[in-house]
Amino acid sequence: RESDDSADAGTVLELDGVVKEYAAETAVDSLSLSVREGELLTLLGPSGCGKTTTLRMMAGLERPDGGEVRLGGEVVSDTSNHVEPENRDVGLVFQDFALFPHLSVGQNVAFGLTDADETETERRVTELLDLVNLAGHREAKPDELSGGQQQRVALARSLAPEPDILLLDEPFSNLDVRLRVEMREEVRQILKEAGVTAVSVTHDQEEALSISDRVAVMNDGRMEQVGTPESVFEHPESRFVASFLGQAGFLSAWYEEGTVVTPIGNFAPQRLNGLTTEYAGTDLDVLVRPDDLRATVVDESEADGHIIHRQYTGPSFVYRVELDNGDMVHCQHNHVKELDIGKPVRVELDADHTLAWYPPKEGEES
Ligand code: ATP
Repeated sequence: RESDDSADAGTVLELDGVVKEYAAETAVDSLSLSVREGELLTLLGPSGCGKTTTLRMMAGLERPDGGEVRLGGEVVSDTSNHVEPENRDVGLVFQDFALFPHLSVGQNVAFGLTDADETETERRVTELLDLVNLAGHREAKPDELSGGQQQRVALARSLAPEPDILLLDEPFSNLDVRLRVEMREEVRQILKEAGVTAVSVTHDQEEALSISDRVAVMNDGRMEQVGTPESVFEHPESRFVASFLGQAGFLSAWYEEGTVVTPIGNFAPQRLNGLTTEYAGTDLDVLVRPDDLRATVVDESEADGHIIHRQYTGPSFVYRVELDNGDMVHCQHNHVKELDIGKPVRVELDADHTLAWYPPKEGEES
């Protein structure tokens, strides 16, 4: 967990020990999080981990059973106090965009501007349609637009009242795969240009890593880790985060004075991130990702393990290798002739970054 994740002048929204219980289960379990001014933070986690419930508590659509929600330093939800969504300066973008079908694009965007006079509304709508590159579609009805254009209208409408924070619930899930990738970049650019603070929800790790300033990884109603995309991917603090963010293999290693012994050879301890001599004489699990490893077919006598599965991903082949000690790792090969399943291979570490590692399992979920 980031040590500097505490409230300061640049904090827009805070969750402090927030709890949400439903009859059958605790959906959100004592969750704390600070959202900083101007950032795009993504809540990432598997289905059912409590992301949407967390977002709905930020919006005021759900009332927490414990803890506090603060917006701009003011308490907006606790056990005795609840500010309704319409009285919070919060913008919402729903999964299905929720545009008014009988209103034009311009009228949809103007909908949020109830306080503005005609001239001001005209000016703001023009400005927002410019921002989302839809100036030429002002008179169109939503069903005359593509999915990506509809999403931009929804974004413009929710930005119109200049909310303190914009909340986006699975914003790309209604778009086809290609458009999704395009819209990620576009939405990020629009949010940055508008200078708005935003929280989005997704279960797609690639989306979270590619659009966010920070990613908050959730598991089972709790916060696992918050950090920049690079820090959560390169330095996952738990096996859960390591596995959720991408294909992860773990080498059963042994650390002794001056060397780390693994089933694919020995490394200098400096290769392991933050390893201290305190762990000398203990077992460790070393995280290796597919692009860290290469497999070469060798004689059975020299092999570290065998190829048991291969997956063609387009840009690369990913081979699953079972090492002789039973560890499973993945090796990624770009533009390399296919290796056959069942072949004995030597596996080499090809990484130039320090690797994450974990002490032996202490009842941690993975
Ligand atoms: P998904 O990615 O599938 O949308 P999520 O991470 O957003 O999942 P939530 O929708 O927040 O998860 O749900 C968290 C848990 O709380 C789930 O187990 C869900 O079944 C439960 N839950 C959510 N809303 C309600 C509700 N209104 N009544 C009862 N249980 C609920």
